[in-house]
Amino acid sequence: MECIFCKIVNGEIPSNKVLENDKFLAFHDINPIAPIHVLIIPKDHYEKFDSTPVELLPEMAEFIKEVAKELNITDYRLITNNGKGAGQEVFHLHIHMVANPNGKLLWPKL
Ligand code: C5P
Repeated sequence: MECIFCKIVNGEIPSNKVLENDKFLAFHDINPIAPIHVLIIPKDHYEKFDSTPVELLPEMAEFIKEVAKELNITDYRLITNNGKGAGQEVFHLHIHMVANPNGKLLWPKL
């Protein structure tokens, strides 16, 4: 298995976990671009947003809200890079959650 996030899911590669349940995992990005930068992934391997079954997305949305509660933040930005041309580097679906609880979020706003 080559996927680095699958290796994080199965514990082969360590991660700084925020929250997990049977289907999803949230962990701190190793190269944070904001004071809070967490990645939220499904435990099953889907390459990107486009190839993820839509049925999974409502549950993932619920999990994302739980992650925000766990981090004690109400203001945050969610991004997913869908494909190489959009900047995707790891081909296992992940949602970036970025926040700056103490000030303005400087990461590019769309
Ligand atoms: O959206 P994109 O594919 O570019 O994002 C991949 C993210 O995965 C990067 O922010 C990178 O820092 C993070 N990463 C990580 N742990 C790894 C490998 C990559 O947090 N072991």
